[in-house]
Amino acid sequence: MGSHPRKDWDTYFMDIAFMVSTRSQCPRRQVGAVLVQGKKLLGTAYNGAPMGVPDCSEDGCMIAEEYELVKDGGEEKVVKKQRCVRTIHAEQNLLLFTDRADREGSTVYVTDEPCWTCANMLANSGITEVVFCRAYPKDSGKVRTMMEQKGIAFRGVEHYRPPTPAAEPIS
Ligand SMILES: [Zn+2]
Ligand SMILES: [Zn+2]
Repeated sequence: MGSHPRKDWDTYFMDIAFMVSTRSQCPRRQVGAVLVQGKKLLGTAYNGAPMGVPDCSEDGCMIAEEYELVKDGGEEKVVKKQRCVRTIHAEQNLLLFTDRADREGSTVYVTDEPCWTCANMLANSGITEVVFCRAYPKDSGKVRTMMEQKGIAFRGVEHYRPPTPAAEPIS
């Protein structure tokens, strides 16, 4: 019992990003992103098909197969992976629905570490910090290097656990 400790800002905004991600209709990956200026929430976005176009829940995922080089111990292996390419990524939707002026010097909280394309776009968007939760090792190395070159703070949120879905109300 007793009072709950007050949420820190990272937890507060990351919780919102996770809540936003639940709007995504892609069963393979649900990503949420929020734009924060100071302590003010200026935008939210999730991955999805363009407005007015059938999404993954209606037409199924649009699967692309890719080959990825994976390091397994000292060995490099080529692994075939599947990815849904139907959706606009959360970070890209966030940029489409926010103003440049609002983004200058702001922070993006995103549930998943950005892919290379999103990272590239974020780097040119005016934002100065990216905070993520779940790692995306495939692009992580080159993304981190580029963020460093660009002088954008880039970090995983520490000591954070995504919210669990709310329990059914007891009647
Ligand atoms: Zn999908
Ligand atoms: Zn992306």
